[in-house]
Amino acid sequence: MGEYSQEKHSTQQGEDMAAEFALAMHPWMYKAQYQDDGSWIEEFVEKPHRSPAEEAAMSPADRAALIGSRNSFPELPLINYTTQYGMGCFEGLKAYPQADGTLKIFRPDENGNRMARSMEGLSMPAYPADLFVPAVVEMVRKNQELGFAPTYDPTWEQNDFATGHSVYIRPFSYAEPGIGLNLSTRPWVVMIGTEVGSYFDPDAASRAVTTNKVRATPGGTGWIKCAANYVIPTLAKKEVQKKGFMEAIFLDATEKRYVEEGSACNIFFLLDSGTLVTPSLQDTVLPGINRHSVIDLARKKGVSTEERRVPIDEVMESAVECFVTGTAAGVSHIESIEHQGRTSVFRDGKVGELTGELARTLKGIQYGTVEDTFGWMVPVE
Ligand SMILES: *Cc1c(COP(=O)(O)O)cnc(C)c1O
Repeated sequence: MGEYSQEKHSTQQGEDMAAEFALAMHPWMYKAQYQDDGSWIEEFVEKPHRSPAEEAAMSPADRAALIGSRNSFPELPLINYTTQYGMGCFEGLKAYPQADGTLKIFRPDENGNRMARSMEGLSMPAYPADLFVPAVVEMVRKNQELGFAPTYDPTWEQNDFATGHSVYIRPFSYAEPGIGLNLSTRPWVVMIGTEVGSYFDPDAASRAVTTNKVRATPGGTGWIKCAANYVIPTLAKKEVQKKGFMEAIFLDATEKRYVEEGSACNIFFLLDSGTLVTPSLQDTVLPGINRHSVIDLARKKGVSTEERRVPIDEVMESAVECFVTGTAAGVSHIESIEHQGRTSVFRDGKVGELTGELARTLKGIQYGTVEDTFGWMVPVE
């Protein structure tokens, strides 16, 4: 999935053991369940662990078994509306290590609000944003207390944090037991954290190609961060990756004329007029928090920025830079787009000036080297 292909999961030593440990989740997790009286019963759960150093010293098999044992909630039902019918939604956000040894989380209130909207969109009781933020902060804090958190490394500054690590936090909803088609009326919300390092390979191709597959249809669930939306993008992305592309670009379902999104990221184009454009938020476009933040940053830099329908023909003729945004992608440049056999290459395939500036500013705010004038970062304390 687009969100993840940008990244490798890292171990305490920072080596890539993704093949062995698909998901090295931190020991402290969180769950809450909706009650019939409208309240939520919350619980922090400490899963099996040793110290990070002891875990790093274990044999790969023993370590895999220990870490694998954390990925288990025997009290949650296997057969339910989420596992059977994709009736569930999720969030993704990150906590960034700071030079002073603390961690700060990027805009968790926005993720909390979107999670509530997604749950409402799936007609289930919404988990309130005012529970979301303290739960995320407390889970990250508890893990950091045990040593499960990346520490700031000044060498990350040399490549503008392209190699920086962070804590990826994954909250998701999970339905009660059931096998008939039904809505969830008594969902859980579960949260887990895991360390991620950015994938950094300056020579990696970032070529994109339009796909005929349809990610979202008008009147559908494209605007909801729900599990069901990721099947088609994953198929499309794998298909284009086999042909040497990094990203699939989805066009609108009706006319196949307008750009909508990457496989799991929003998309921007700098036009030769100097205007930055991004597809407006139809019900087929996911309202990305990085998308919104990049619009704010561009406007503050004095760049004229438009949210509107963006014809693929206009992009092929007039775009001079292109990038995608998302929690995993950050701001990632796209070097070229192929559409119906034609290819447009942006800035000779190099990272464009505006793309680079926006990427550096956003990462700088997140890692604390650029002043957070918008008040986006929430300290873990
Ligand atoms: C999560 C997601 C994004 C990016 O959202 P952010 O809040 O910026 O991480 C964009 N498109 C899709 C389809 C997504 O699922």
